[in-house]
Amino acid sequence: MNRTLNLDDALYAYVLSHSLREHPAQAALREATRAHPHAVMQIGPEQGQFMALLVRLIGAKRTVEIGVFTGYSALSVALALPDDGYVLACDVSDEYTRIGRPYWKQAGVSHKIDLRLAPARATLDERLANGEAGTFDFAFIDADKPAYDDYYERCLRLLRAGGLIAIDNVLWSGSVAQPAKTADTAALQALNDKLHRDERIDLSLLPIGDGLTLARKR
Ligand code: CA
Repeated sequence: MNRTLNLDDALYAYVLSHSLREHPAQAALREATRAHPHAVMQIGPEQGQFMALLVRLIGAKRTVEIGVFTGYSALSVALALPDDGYVLACDVSDEYTRIGRPYWKQAGVSHKIDLRLAPARATLDERLANGEAGTFDFAFIDADKPAYDDYYERCLRLLRAGGLIAIDNVLWSGSVAQPAKTADTAALQALNDKLHRDERIDLSLLPIGDGLTLARKR
């Protein structure tokens, strides 16, 4: 059976050196995040490029991101959007997101990114109450794991039919395949189980990064 290759350092370096096309601001933002104590929370650059490709493939214009951290994924998506594209970027940390903002500016995409420093549930509920259900094309969920299901349900309502939700860390370093020892693992297992049976979406669980689920709204 063909399975995904286990990437050792040499092969991962090959993947990057033979596919990565970063904007200078993306490379600079990665560099600026490298020394951060939570740098592991940043998505890999190949994943950023993959999400940018998805955004272009579905012709996305309005997107939402839950969990911005220092802003690499928002930057990747914003660069892939047309000039009048929109990223509703939800996070609670000014400390983290302020690291990324200069690089959004450097890349010339600040006008596309609407950063909302507030609990994401409240921001999304506000948008739904505002009549924005069915108006988004793409969503990226990469925040506190126990709330993933709440974010998923809200994003599903915000998306148009044919829109795509990408959910990060669904393999949680492999721990989802073992009995859960933490609330985070249990939450991810429950969501993975639910999505497998969820008739509202088409589904693919990709072993890219720490596991990325793609859910296309039917
Ligand atoms: Ca993540």
